[in-house]
Amino acid sequence: MFTSLEISEIKKLLNPDHKIVIITHYNPDGDAIGSSLGLKHFLKQKGLEADVIVPNDFPKFLKWMPEAKKITIAEYKRKQAGELIYYADVIFVLDFNASHRSGNLVGPWIEKAKAKKILIDHHQQPENFDFVYSDTAIPATSQMVYHFAEALGEENLINQDIAECLYTGIMTDTGGFRFRSTSATTHRIIANLIEKGADPAMITSNTWDTNTVSRLHLLSLILSRIEVVKDGKVAVLWLKRDELKEFGFQKGDTEGFVNYGLSIMGTQVSAFFMEDLYEDFIKISFRSKEDVDVNQFSRKYFNGGGHINAAGGKYFKTIEDTILDFKEKIEAEDF
Ligand code: 5GP
Ligand code: MN
Repeated sequence: MFTSLEISEIKKLLNPDHKIVIITHYNPDGDAIGSSLGLKHFLKQKGLEADVIVPNDFPKFLKWMPEAKKITIAEYKRKQAGELIYYADVIFVLDFNASHRSGNLVGPWIEKAKAKKILIDHHQQPENFDFVYSDTAIPATSQMVYHFAEALGEENLINQDIAECLYTGIMTDTGGFRFRSTSATTHRIIANLIEKGADPAMITSNTWDTNTVSRLHLLSLILSRIEVVKDGKVAVLWLKRDELKEFGFQKGDTEGFVNYGLSIMGTQVSAFFMEDLYEDFIKISFRSKEDVDVNQFSRKYFNGGGHINAAGGKYFKTIEDTILDFKEKIEAEDF
């Protein structure tokens, strides 16, 4: 958490004369949207206005969240997003650790912005911002926003809108309260959020009972050819651009696919390779169990990073060569 000195400085920054902007990482997920909207609604309760900016569009299954439709999507509203960041007095950097993680457009804007920058994030190796609250042991940035409200002594301000957003962020980033860093504290916070009006059935249904037929067809395709290598320890899944097009891929359709590889008995690592629809690289998702560190692995070989058990990366070869290189790299690793 921020030190008490930092908290008192942040309190001074949070005043109605200041323009406040909240920014998330590229390809925002449930925790990115949940934490940033949760913080926005919290600031509103304090009488402050804040604009949420995301670098690019986010999945439909997150658009039910209160005021999700008011989010400024920089790839569609370049001028507006650029000006908001340029003129901001305070920028909250949420759910990412380094400016470049918000993409080629927004990343440089953050770097150049004159605003005071406040990072709240749970990824490894954070960059140095004016204020840094980084804790890789916490399963979701949305939980950290709750702790931030506590540190300000204002968790009493949490209302139903805030509760719904933070609940969604925690639920999605913990894979439904399953992943390793899910703690008793996480569950206590979830209990409080339910008391403040978050409805678990409604949130789960809005977020997860939203399969499209195209998504299920894509899932059945990749499951039908899932490959397990390295003595059953590593699962490999992949999707090609033509297949995405054939099934009418929409943003978010492949969310969670990589987890199926980990559900196989005996696997330690699951890797999902996908030809990016718009850019010329292979997008990779890694997941792992226990102490197998895919953050380090991805940093070392695949231009990425993330968390110990969940990381992403990109690679600039064909999908076939990417998978071949991956198989070679994992042979050298001792998991
Ligand atoms: P996902 O596989 O769901 O895209 O990402 C898993 C985790 O790794 C997320 O926390 C995400 O923020 C992080 N991540 C994904 N792609 C990258 C990347 O290219 N670089 C870094 N540093 N982190 C990534
Ligand atoms: Mn997160």
